Formats: sequence, C-alpha cells, structure tokens
Amino acid sequence: MGDGAPSRSAPPKLQLGKLRRDFPAGEATITVLDDIDLTIDSGEMVAVVGASGSGKSTLMNILGCLDRPTSGSYRIGDRSTSDLLPDELAELRREHFGFIFQRYHLLPDLSALGNVEVPAIYAGLSSGSRKARAADLLDRLGMSERSRHRPGQLSGGQQQRVSIARALMNGGEIVLADEPTGALDSVSGEEVMRILKGLHRDGHTVVVVTHDMKVADHCDRVIEIKDGKIIGDRKGLGTGESESRGLPDLERETTDRGVAALDSLKEAFAMAVLSMAAHKLRTFLTMLGIIIGIASVVCVVALGEGSRQKVIQSISAIGTNTLNIRTGSGFGDQRSAAVRTLNVADANVLAKQPYVDSVTPVVQTSVTARYRGIAVTAQVSGVGAQYFRVNGLELAQGRFFDQQAVDSFDQSVVLDENSVNSLFGGDKRAAIGHVILLGSVPARVIGATKKASAAFGGPGDTLSIYMPYTAVNSRMLGTTILRSITVRTSEKADNAVAEALITRLLTKRHGTKDFFVINFDTIRQTINATTQTLVLLISVIAAISLIVGGIGVMNIMIVSVTERTGEIGVRMAVGARQNDIMEQFLIEAVLVCLIGGVFGILLALSFGGVFSLFSSDFKLIYSLSSIFWAFTCSTLIGVVFGFLPARSAAKLDPVAALARE
Ligand code: ADP
Ligand code: MG
Repeated sequence: MGDGAPSRSAPPKLQLGKLRRDFPAGEATITVLDDIDLTIDSGEMVAVVGASGSGKSTLMNILGCLDRPTSGSYRIGDRSTSDLLPDELAELRREHFGFIFQRYHLLPDLSALGNVEVPAIYAGLSSGSRKARAADLLDRLGMSERSRHRPGQLSGGQQQRVSIARALMNGGEIVLADEPTGALDSVSGEEVMRILKGLHRDGHTVVVVTHDMKVADHCDRVIEIKDGKIIGDRKGLGTGESESRGLPDLERETTDRGVAALDSLKEAFAMAVLSMAAHKLRTFLTMLGIIIGIASVVCVVALGEGSRQKVIQSISAIGTNTLNIRTGSGFGDQRSAAVRTLNVADANVLAKQPYVDSVTPVVQTSVTARYRGIAVTAQVSGVGAQYFRVNGLELAQGRFFDQQAVDSFDQSVVLDENSVNSLFGGDKRAAIGHVILLGSVPARVIGATKKASAAFGGPGDTLSIYMPYTAVNSRMLGTTILRSITVRTSEKADNAVAEALITRLLTKRHGTKDFFVINFDTIRQTINATTQTLVLLISVIAAISLIVGGIGVMNIMIVSVTERTGEIGVRMAVGARQNDIMEQFLIEAVLVCLIGGVFGILLALSFGGVFSLFSSDFKLIYSLSSIFWAFTCSTLIGVVFGFLPARSAAKLDPVAALARE
C-alpha cells in the first residue's frame, strides 16, 4: 500500500463485438452506434474522442452497464452481458465500474464524505470500514479539509475530486469518465487528468470521453468516433505528468447478510429523514392528511367510549338488576293514573318470590307543604327504604329513612333541593329536625338530597318530598293503591326471566295486563349496541379521511420520485439494486405516515384535554388499542400508498434517470 504498485486484481478485459444501439425517434429509429468492434485491455488508458452527438456517451453508458446494446455482444472478462437481469447489471456496476460525470452528479443533501460512502452502502460494507475508507480516499485526493462540506459549498474541481473518490469507493477497477474536465477551468482540468493518469499507473483501466484533443493527448490510446462509427484508433502521446496517489486497497469484507441488510435499512432511514428535513413544509402538508385522519379516528373512538361509559354509569347508579313496574301501557299513557289495580298486596306477594331481592313500592300525591307561613305545592313520593339507592339519589344532609321507619309508618321526610330552597331558603343544615305540614299531616325533616342526577325524569321544577310509602298510604291517601313498584332481582336470577315471571304473576292477579315493566338491563344493552353502531359509523367516515390522507401521501411521493429522478439515476450508476431504491422510498412514505400518526395521536390527546376543560362530567376515554390501531393504520397507509411510487422509482431506466439531472 502506498507504493503505487498495482497490488489489486487486474481489471477485466472489455470486448464489444458488432455492437449496435438504436433509439426510437418517432416512427423511425436512429442508429447511434453502428457496428462497433472494440477491445479495451486490462489497465489501458483510453480516450474516446468525437464531435458532440457522435455517440460517445451512448458508448460509455453501454460500457458501464447503464444501458444495453440493441444488438451485438458485450463481454466483461469472460462474462457475456446480454442476458443479465437489472440487478445483475447493478452488481457489475458496483463491483467493477466507477463513474465520473461532467456535472459530477453528487447528491446535494449529503456531505462529501456521505457521497463517497454511497457505493459501499450498496456493496454491504460495514459502517465503520466504509467511513474509514471514504475518509482515506478523500484525504489522498486532497479533500480531507472539505469532507464535511455539501456539494453546493465546493468548487467544481473539488466536486469532481469527490466524485473520483466515489468512483474508487468500491475499487473502481474500470473508471469511466464522461467529459470529466468539461465543466472545469483548465487548471482544475489538468489536476483531474493528473489524478486519472495516476489511477492508470496504479493499474486501473481508465476510459475518458472527451471532445477536447488536449485532454486526449494524456492517454495512451485514442479512439475516434464519428456518427456512431469508429474512424480511428491510434496510440496517443501519453504526455503530461502523472501522480500516483497510492490509493488504499479494497478489502472485500464478507459481512453477514443480515447485518448488511440492517445497515442498508439504517442508511435508507437516514436518507429518508434527510430528504424530509430538506422539504419541511411539503412533508408537513403531506402529513396533515394523516394527522387529521388519525386524530379523528382516535377522537371518535374515545368519544364513543366516553359516552358509552357515561350512560352505563348513570344506569349502574340505578342498578342493572332492577325492574320497574308501572301502571298503564307505557310512558306517557294518560290513563295510567286511573289504573287502580297495582297495590301494596302486589308488592308483598312480589317480595316473597325467590328471584326477588327487595321491593320498593312508590305512591305519589300532590299536597300543600307549609313551614312558618310559607306554603308551596309539592309532590310527595311514598317510597321504600331502598328507593334512594335504587334511584341513585345522594344525601347532602341528615339521613335517609330505613326499613324500620317504613314498617312503623314513620312520618319522617327527606326533602330534595327544590323543596329546601322553597321552604328553608336553601339552608339544608337548618332544615334538618324541623317539622313541616304536608296538607294536615305533620312530618319531621330528617334529610336532604343533593341535586338529583337520575337518568330518567330528572327533578325539573317540581318540589319532591320523600316519605315512607306506608305513612303516605295510611295518613294521606287512605288507600293501598300504588303507582309503581321497583323490584331488585336477586343476584342469581336472570333479569329477563324475572321480567317474564313478574309479568305473568301480576297479569294473573289483575286479570289483565294493565302495567308495563322497564328492564334497566335491556336499556343498558340497547344503549351499548347503539353507541357501538354509532362509533362504527363515524369510524368509517374517519377511515375515509385516512384514505384521502393516504392518497395525499401517494401524490407527494410521486412528486418526490419525479423530482429526485436524477438522484435515483446516480444511485443506480453506483450500483443500487432495484430493491434498494424501492426500500428508500417506501421507508420515506412509512416514516411520513408514522410521524403523522404520532402527531395525530398527540392532537387527539390534546383535544381530549381541551374538551375536559369545558365539560366536567363527560370525558373522552382513550383506549390503548385504538392508539395501537392508529399506528398500524398509518404504517399500512405508508406501505400501501407508497408502494406504487416506490416501485416506479425502482423501475426507472438508469440512463434516462441520469439524463434528468
Ligand atoms: P455525445 O456524447 O457524443 O455527445 P450521445 O451519445 O450523447 O453523444 O448521443 C448521440 C446521439 O444519440 C445524439 O444524436 C442523441 O440525440 C442521440 N440519443 C442519445 N440518447 C438518446 C435517447 N435516449 N433517445 C433518442 N436519442 C438519443
Ligand atoms: Mg456526451
């Protein structure tokens, strides 16, 4: 190493036989290369000269396996190239060739070092040796000071040296330079030619395409081409000084396949991040569709779950093993008050049934309630001791009456908030212990309820006073007729069965079905099903918005592929397989969607936070599974909608792609 001796394996001989290249031009075809017979020996330094349009670049592209001949043969060493697949051609480019272009074709987002590394990524060299070799090459080409610079920050001559380093990264046994000095001033041009001659001295085969005879004079052999035919092939002067750089030998590592795959994934990931960072606004706008889609899906599911749990909660306050028996044929039946068959005896019989845990009869009457000169109309509910628990009423002051009070016809009452306001000016504490008059019946206030939060028939404007139903029946109504009975079924009993049994029992007792039963469990189930249907419905709408977002991603990826066609061409020239290109664009699509998904979830969570500021008793409930599905969904969208653009990128023709830059 460093002594300039050709210590690497000799580059293979290149042989063209009867080679022809036609291009379609409208209806006709034009023949750009016609009957080319040419052999370039291992280690030669050849100049291909000719006027512009004579077919030099076309020849060069075929030599470098970027393009295929229309007919004729091309052999590299003892390998014929005619039947090779795109990825096999990519392998040949990777293993044997190094390209140097007139316009350098460096990737603008990568540093000099990063650009030099690219071919080795596709060759599967480990990150450590890749960086070391790239730095070494740049150093020997006098570019170590500039290795962190972007191409845009380098002069033409410096960029060309970076591209030479890139050509040598995988060994570059055969260096193909298409007008390498064409864009350079004469001093830089001389410098580049000195480097190329040094490579020739080190054993590389060098082919230089040029229209400039001064450049050709540097070479041992000059091939002249005109209108696609070789018209001259002579020994050149081989003048000018050369300069061996003592380039490092390439150690062909045999890296583990898995490690190499992981490494290339990592690089593709880094490239995706780079290109996203280079187009921040565009990336963000693309993400916006995904963000809104994911946020709405997560929000809708959370909203549905929140409302479902809220409803379930208020029903659970009543108790799901509760049946409510009321007179009449249903809610709002005007004749229900006239039904006089439901009575205390019914309640007593029901209480004895094995499937019944407890029974709470309810009677109602309207009276004038008086306290110290204040007289108001109030609704007196005669209830059992369990009424409060069953209906989810909470105590604000004092206590509720118990079973013993019911059994002993006790004249104690519990006031609701409206009654306390009317009779005691809102002071619940002051109300406790006082005796009020209900009609002519005196009753002692023992408790006051909080503002009721009952699920059905909230308190509204009526003043409610609760008293043991025994006392109401005997002292105020003088009857045993009831308006409703609330039955709590025993834990073991099935609610639906209990409902059927009660209906049968009471129908038999009354001789007709003049009542109806409300089963809270059925209501709960119905609400459950309804909210689930609702969530499903809105989820479908949200999913549509996700698809729209996905189409946005696809759209932008297509733009991105078009915009970066040149970059794709460069990557293919240095040996990227179709899969490598595909992987890079797919990763970008998935990354956009995933990051969009994260933002979407954050947006949904913050929406929930804002929502809870405005609504105290109703909140969004986020489930881990909906967040998981949001992630899966966004990844899938990236893959599905990124696939087409990624594939079209991978299928690009290298020469056409390169021509775009
Ligand atoms: P040079 O490099 O010597 O200037 P090229 O090899 O680039 O010439 O092109 C030779 C001829 O082939 C030109 O006339 C050009 O228009 C034609 N040509 C090159 N590529 C294509 C193509 N993809 N389709 C049609 N014509 C092409
Ligand atoms: Mg050309």
